[in-house]
Amino acid sequence: MYWFFAELPGFNAQVNLSAAEIKRLADRIIAKSKETYDAVAAVPLDKVNFANAIAPLAELDAQQFPLVQACVLPRMVSPSEDICRASADAEKRLDSHFLLCSSNGGWLGLSCLPCKNPVISCKVTRQREDVYRVVKAFMERGERIGPEATRFVQCLVREFERNGAKLTQAKKEEMEKLKSLIDDLNLKYIQNMSDFTKFLLLSEEELAGMPPEFLKDLEETDGKRKVLLTGYYVTPILEHCKVGSTRKQIAVAYGQKGGKQNVAILEKLVQIRHRLARLLGYSNYSDFAIEPRMPMTSRKVLEFLEEMSEQLSDLANRELTVLKELKMKEEGNAQFGMEDLLYYMKRGEQHKVDLDIGEIKRYFPVKLVISGMLKMFQDLFALRFEEIKDVEVWHDTVRLFSVWDASSSDLLGYFFLDMFSRLKAHERNNELITQHKTHKSKAHALPHELVEGKYDHTCVVALQNGYMCSNGSRKVPVAVLLSQCPKEFDGNSALLRFPEVVRIFHEFSHVVHHISNRATFSRFSSLRLEGDFAEIPSLLLENWCYESISLKMMSGFYQDITKSVTTEACQSLKRRRDMFAGLKLKQEILLCLVDQIIHTSENVDIDDLVKDLHPKVHSKRFPFTFMSLMTMRVKCSFLKVFAADLFTTKFKDDLLNQHAGLRFRNKVLAPGGSKDPLEIITDYLGREPSLQPFIQSRTRNAL
Ligand SMILES: [Zn+2]
Repeated sequence: MYWFFAELPGFNAQVNLSAAEIKRLADRIIAKSKETYDAVAAVPLDKVNFANAIAPLAELDAQQFPLVQACVLPRMVSPSEDICRASADAEKRLDSHFLLCSSNGGWLGLSCLPCKNPVISCKVTRQREDVYRVVKAFMERGERIGPEATRFVQCLVREFERNGAKLTQAKKEEMEKLKSLIDDLNLKYIQNMSDFTKFLLLSEEELAGMPPEFLKDLEETDGKRKVLLTGYYVTPILEHCKVGSTRKQIAVAYGQKGGKQNVAILEKLVQIRHRLARLLGYSNYSDFAIEPRMPMTSRKVLEFLEEMSEQLSDLANRELTVLKELKMKEEGNAQFGMEDLLYYMKRGEQHKVDLDIGEIKRYFPVKLVISGMLKMFQDLFALRFEEIKDVEVWHDTVRLFSVWDASSSDLLGYFFLDMFSRLKAHERNNELITQHKTHKSKAHALPHELVEGKYDHTCVVALQNGYMCSNGSRKVPVAVLLSQCPKEFDGNSALLRFPEVVRIFHEFSHVVHHISNRATFSRFSSLRLEGDFAEIPSLLLENWCYESISLKMMSGFYQDITKSVTTEACQSLKRRRDMFAGLKLKQEILLCLVDQIIHTSENVDIDDLVKDLHPKVHSKRFPFTFMSLMTMRVKCSFLKVFAADLFTTKFKDDLLNQHAGLRFRNKVLAPGGSKDPLEIITDYLGREPSLQPFIQSRTRNAL
């Protein structure tokens, strides 16, 4: 039978809108949102109650979310240029409307910082002071409402106040001035980085160790090769070039990218961010930035980072000794420098891990990986996926599934898989082109980069959130998983590189997180979870890609799929992941510490700070460009620690245990953002999260 979306139970998301429909829908969204805010603002302060002040805002949020997504998704997936343009225009208009008016933070998509998904959300601020006064009056009345509703009201108030709702007019003007100064400085910083056109000319002898296809890609000038100082060229040289002096030259030149100007910009930014935070009533910028991301003070974050760094010291020292010995063997008595780190890590990996990464790829045909992954999630979380065929979607490679609870047969939601690259096979199979494109899009962090009419990254987009309607019925969540897998290769299912397998698994975990949500408010959908806690389940589930029992379910030799990847190969993949984990994590901690320290101060001398911190954390990383500091980066290390603790404590010896999976689904995935994330994890573990499982797991496999 042929399905129309409207016939699918609980399905309210709209796909396949025409350009004209997108435009009309955006108009309707703006009008309706203005109307609701005006109505709430008109409630007399002595007459406010939940029904006239809070419920309309919650309902507006729930109803408009899928409509906004319907307007903005097409620009990421539609093969039609007209529709893409209409969608991009609609997004711009909606963005500026919500900036002035009000709604919840972040409509579309998901930012995966640990996996470096670009952020695709229009940040929305709350500037309707008249609405703020009504919401605040409701909060002060202390009307009895449930814990989730209380949390919703607190979120509303916090968003208003973070945008200056409590400030006097003069202070508000000052806030705007500071914000626009911050924007200008950010822009200048990025411009300095991208205007940096310096290059080095190196002979083939100086580039010894680099593969011929790398050299071929370099322009030739006077018998030398021109190496541009971008990550695309610099990282492979730091990893593979045998000549120590070349690595050093490259590392030093790359480390100066952005130059002294950017250090000065950063110092200025620190001062202005501090002033902004003080103006809004916070003791420093770090407290301001952390508040919506994790329930901890900057002091607690700093303590945690220092403790982690200290506990990793033994491991990192042992790893460093191994690297120094390798250098001694290869280059004699030369001193070990930052520029040697990546090269000798690669060397160490080759010595200690018996793994042919090209060979391993032959065990991961795309179709097999996807079907194995779907089966595993169904088994583990007691879910049933049913494919809905004969429904008109935006491209003929897109598949739609409904999700059911395996025991109660309740409908839980829907997901689309839009997995395949729209590039033609010969283009996609030229890996160099693909890597180059991927690299370029990452380097410039363009959120809207399209390749052949499709968004150029693997990510998840929520089309509809799960929530409870005022009549007591439930709307179910709908998600889209976007990826750029190659479709076919010589008539066979194309093969995935192992990191791509992990990445798809990680993103699909977000889909399951979204579908498992049982919160009452749309605001608390898993993909709009506060801060970075949405990453923890996905980081936890990545572990299933490194255990042979589960990896075998997703693998099979491309010419004979009954032959799955061997147990030895699985162990090697895990050893490879964990090698030099101490040193790698210390580098992350260094960045977090610098970030944390400068943003708890009023003034800072960046050079002195780094000199002071380097010996503490053994960071030998180069280049060190401070780019990450521009965004108050997420504390990835925290998330990894929590994920490792959950894995070791609850799943390690019983990876496919449905009872454990179901408990995790109900206790950790279902609440979404309706509870404090740290409280959810503590409750599930029966204690506070601990550092030890992470350190032990990495130490066991490291060296
Ligand atoms: Zn993620």
